[in-house]
Amino acid sequence: MIVESYTLASSTAYATPYYVIRGELPGPVFMVVSGIHGNETGSIRAAQIIVERFNQRRLYIHRGTIIVVPLMNQKAYRKRIRGVPDLNRTFPRSSKTAAKHPLASALLQLVLRYRPTWFLDLHEANGLSQKNPKRLGQSIIVTPGSRGTGTAKRVIKGINRTIPKTAYHFNIRIRERPGSSRAAVTRILGAKAFTVETCWSLDRELRIRYQIDIVSRFLKSAGLL
Ligand SMILES: [Zn+2]
Repeated sequence: MIVESYTLASSTAYATPYYVIRGELPGPVFMVVSGIHGNETGSIRAAQIIVERFNQRRLYIHRGTIIVVPLMNQKAYRKRIRGVPDLNRTFPRSSKTAAKHPLASALLQLVLRYRPTWFLDLHEANGLSQKNPKRLGQSIIVTPGSRGTGTAKRVIKGINRTIPKTAYHFNIRIRERPGSSRAAVTRILGAKAFTVETCWSLDRELRIRYQIDIVSRFLKSAGLL
């Protein structure tokens, strides 16, 4: 296994690192993105820890490729704000239209170069999905018609078995959200794309643990771990 680091949007003011982790054998391509919203610090930290664990060989893949962009929107993160404009509304709605932000454009180029089968976008949200169907905290979101819906349901079933407090259970949400990375990657590439949302009112360590656990479960589903 090798871990290489590169820079996304390197010629712009939005330059940010990304990592490519390759097993010795060919296999599925899996992409993890975090920090599209700069104030969702639990998901950002989780993605950074995942990279650290690969660097330290505490996580190891024999086959396939994992690409991690731990902190997309550095500018928004420095101010701990969601970001203006909302980066997750700037992705193109089809292969015929252009991204409306240099970071969205750079991420899409990376996606088109590696063509991942799996795409996870890590976020945090307000409220608990278990208590209010309109809330997205503690949910995994898929675009309608996604090929990944079954996997998302299995991942949720698995993690919920480990969460004694029912209020913190995860639920699936099926949403069309034009301009989001999930919609773009689903529509343009046909990838199994997911938005993972922890509830930002929960203890930070717990949120980080949930995020890492969910990424690990998807990596197992993809046959990488
Ligand atoms: Zn978000």
